[in-house]
Amino acid sequence: MRIAILGDVHSNIEALDAVVAELGKDNIDHWVQVGDIVGYGPDPIACIERIRELGCVVSIGNHDAAVIGQLNTDYFNGYARAAIEWTGEQLREEDFEFLRRLPLVKEAPELGYTVVHGSLYMPAQFGYVQSTVEALESLAQQRTHLAFVGHSHVPACYMQSAGAPRHALDVVFESAFEAQVGQYERVLVNVGSVGQPRDEDPRAAVAVFDTDAKTVEVRRVDYDFATTQKKIRDAGLPTVLAERLSLGV
Ligand code: ZN
Repeated sequence: MRIAILGDVHSNIEALDAVVAELGKDNIDHWVQVGDIVGYGPDPIACIERIRELGCVVSIGNHDAAVIGQLNTDYFNGYARAAIEWTGEQLREEDFEFLRRLPLVKEAPELGYTVVHGSLYMPAQFGYVQSTVEALESLAQQRTHLAFVGHSHVPACYMQSAGAPRHALDVVFESAFEAQVGQYERVLVNVGSVGQPRDEDPRAAVAVFDTDAKTVEVRRVDYDFATTQKKIRDAGLPTVLAERLSLGV
């Protein structure tokens, strides 16, 4: 079985459609999305619709939670807050209803994975996994072989062996990679971001977990970010949110 995992989409339909088209060649059986479907970008409704059409298993992101009033926007910088307020003005009641139903953490033990936006360690606080220490905190709460996270918009893979010292992890920290995960007891994958990559590679990121081969791959996909940038400017969203897409920051 092949499971596709979509990271932070952030209302970027050009990136989302490019990733889905690329994976269309791959016979994906099951779709997962780690949250932050909306925020920052110009196409929140189209992105929610696409995620629903794909039948994604979704955990809620901090931007999604802020748009439905479950997270205080004081927590965000000014650009993010402006985009959250703008997004709230665009969404229809059915979009709010969809976001309200998203869980903070979703475990799929039959498929061997858990999905959460930031970290399994106090998930409601939306902490980041950006270091080995933060990865260990999340891994300590993980009950399935794999867990998928996003939030930092930077791909990484933290792999823990059975019986090894608790602090010993094998780490992959690259913009694209394929990791063999079968020999590890617990694996935490940051799948990167579809719609706003921040590892200085502007290409959309997407992960594929092959449950038979026991491989996790993060791939990068070119998309037409010039169109997204134009839409951001035309919508009156902060221009920095357009500029960052061509830089991958
Ligand atoms: Zn995000």
